[in-house]
Amino acid sequence: MVSLALHQRIRGGTGGRIVSGTERRTARAELSAIGQALAILGDRWVLLILQRAFLLRIRTFAGWRDALGISESVLAARLKELVDHGIFELAAYRDGRTRYEYRLTERGLRLWTLLVAIHSWERDWADRGRLPPLLHHLCGHAAEPYLGCGACREPMSARDTHTEPGPLATFSRIGPPRRHRRTVRPDAAPDLIGYCPDSMEILGDRWSTSILAGAFLGTRRFVDFQAGLGIAPSVLTDRLRRFVELGVFDPRPDGSYRLTDKGLAFFEVFAFLVDWAQHELPAPEGSALAITHRPCGAALDPVLLCTACARPLRRREVRFVLDG
Ligand SMILES: [Zn+2]
Ligand SMILES: [Zn+2]
Repeated sequence: MVSLALHQRIRGGTGGRIVSGTERRTARAELSAIGQALAILGDRWVLLILQRAFLLRIRTFAGWRDALGISESVLAARLKELVDHGIFELAAYRDGRTRYEYRLTERGLRLWTLLVAIHSWERDWADRGRLPPLLHHLCGHAAEPYLGCGACREPMSARDTHTEPGPLATFSRIGPPRRHRRTVRPDAAPDLIGYCPDSMEILGDRWSTSILAGAFLGTRRFVDFQAGLGIAPSVLTDRLRRFVELGVFDPRPDGSYRLTDKGLAFFEVFAFLVDWAQHELPAPEGSALAITHRPCGAALDPVLLCTACARPLRRREVRFVLDG
């Protein structure tokens, strides 16, 4: 049961003033859209909260608390942020008495492709075969989604896209790292849905995401990552070591780092992150990444395609099979 006092804490803090999303957006306006997206989503708890909202339709404070084993103060803080950023809205409903639930807004609902892409990548590359299958109602088969181009409906990969040079600046100011970001226990949520540990290691740390983005854009050498991202050498050394351990980067004898096939495949997740950020978040002019699908020349418009029928997947036409 969620007390009203708790909701007041969620919404307004002790002063009771509700910080509007507009104020937050103004404060972040100097960040690129992708930098803002990472500031919002680059957190393991946030990803787990969203995952549960999409897959299990969890809508209540108690629902997430019980499903994730998350402390009430951390959960309250994360939900408040997600409301401030317009991803959830707090809605009252009657169930004998007035209760509150968190509903995904249109902006929040548009994150479903990112969440599905994370699942898809984990299934293919991180030995997460236990993840529930995604059923495509249009064709009646398991979708096994893959990344495609919305313009030409052909498969799309990091190798056949082109990005305008100079975009590393987009990532160079990604805000301070979130405190307590390593609070998810390694054994958290050992259930059917899974925990997607590799994705969360990459997305749950803004420097990691930025380094991987730099690699997608062609950065290979330590000094170039350092200069392009303005990252401290010790932090860069640590993240590169973890990427080698995860099998995402392959260290070369000349000291450079190449993306492995596993690393290249994460472009699927990255494409949806960029697409969501650039459509949903305001940003200074000129900071957007210009990515094109080379075979057709169209601007980045990622879609998930169904392996069985090759049609683009739409949110209302798919569901995870959780009871199998
Ligand atoms: Zn295309
Ligand atoms: Zn299908």
